[in-house]
Amino acid sequence: MEEKNIPLPRYGKTGGIEELIEYIQPVYRPPSEASSLILQPTLGCSHNRCLFCYMYREKRFRIRDWDEIKTDIDDAASSYPRTRRVFLADGDAFAMSTAQILRILRYLAELFPDLERVTCYASPGNLLEKSVEEMRELRENGLKILYYGVESGDPDILRKVKKGISPGQMVHGCVKATRAGIKLSVTVILGLAGRKGSFRHARKTARVINRINPRYLSALTLITGPRKERFAEMMGEDFQYNDAVDNVRELRDLIENLEVTKCIFRSNHASNYLPLAGTLSKSRERLLSEIDSALANPDDYFKDDWMRGL
Ligand code: SF4
Repeated sequence: MEEKNIPLPRYGKTGGIEELIEYIQPVYRPPSEASSLILQPTLGCSHNRCLFCYMYREKRFRIRDWDEIKTDIDDAASSYPRTRRVFLADGDAFAMSTAQILRILRYLAELFPDLERVTCYASPGNLLEKSVEEMRELRENGLKILYYGVESGDPDILRKVKKGISPGQMVHGCVKATRAGIKLSVTVILGLAGRKGSFRHARKTARVINRINPRYLSALTLITGPRKERFAEMMGEDFQYNDAVDNVRELRDLIENLEVTKCIFRSNHASNYLPLAGTLSKSRERLLSEIDSALANPDDYFKDDWMRGL
C-alpha cells in the first residue's frame, strides 16, 4: 500500500488541469506529489493482487497508446508550460518498457523546459525486470524518484498478502535502483501482521529497510474498512487486528531497529495514530522519546479512530 490517500489530482490552484486532461478515475498519487502535473500513461496496476489494496480493482491494467499520452502532454504544455514536476500514474507506471518510459521522458523534457523531476510508482516485479543500465538511462532522462511499497520484510506476511515477491528480491530490485541513482521513497504498513506477528514484522521489516537504505521511508497503518472480516480470514485463523497501542509499539520496534543513513522518515499519513517526522540517523532518539510520551498518554497524543483515513 503506497502512500495513495488522495484520489483527485490537483494541479494549478483552480484544478483547471481537469478541464484539459480527461483523467480515468480513480487517480491516486503520493501526498508529496500534490503540486505535480499528473499524467496517466498507464491505467490500473499490473500486479493488482495485494490483499490490503483495492485501489485499482475496478481497472484493468493497460499501457495507453502513445497518441493518447502525447495528447495529454501537449494539452498540459499548452496551459502549464512552466511545469517543474510530473507524476506518472497509475499504480505502477514503471511497468512500461524502458523504451516507452524514455519516449515519455524525452517528450516531457522537450515541452517543459523547467522540468526538474519525473516520478512514478513501481510495483513488486518492476524493479527486477530492468537492468541498472536501463534505470540509469531513465534517471539521466529525468526519472528521479520511484515510490515503492515494501509493506513488510517478513516473507510469511508478504506471501499471505500476495505481494508477489520475497524480501530478498525486493532488496535486490531496490539496490539496483539506488545504484542507478534513482531515489526510493518506500512505505511499510503497521499492523499488517496482526498482534501475534507484530514484533517479528517490525524486526524483519527494519532489516529489509536497512538493506535498501531508502532516501524516504513512510509508515502507514493498515485500514481494511468494509473488508475487515475478509482480510482477517485470509490472514489465517489466529489473526487479530492490532489496536492503536499495538500499532504505535510496532512503530517503536521498527524505528529502534532501523540503521539507515540520510533517510527521511514520516508517519504523517492519514492512516496513522501518531504523526512523526525526522531524519532517522539524526533524530532516532527524539522519535523514540516522542513515541514513549505518546504511549504513556495515548488519549492526549493518538488520533481518534474516526479521524484516521480522512
Ligand atoms: S502493487 Fe501497489 S497498487 Fe498494486 S495492488 Fe499492490 S499495493 Fe496496490
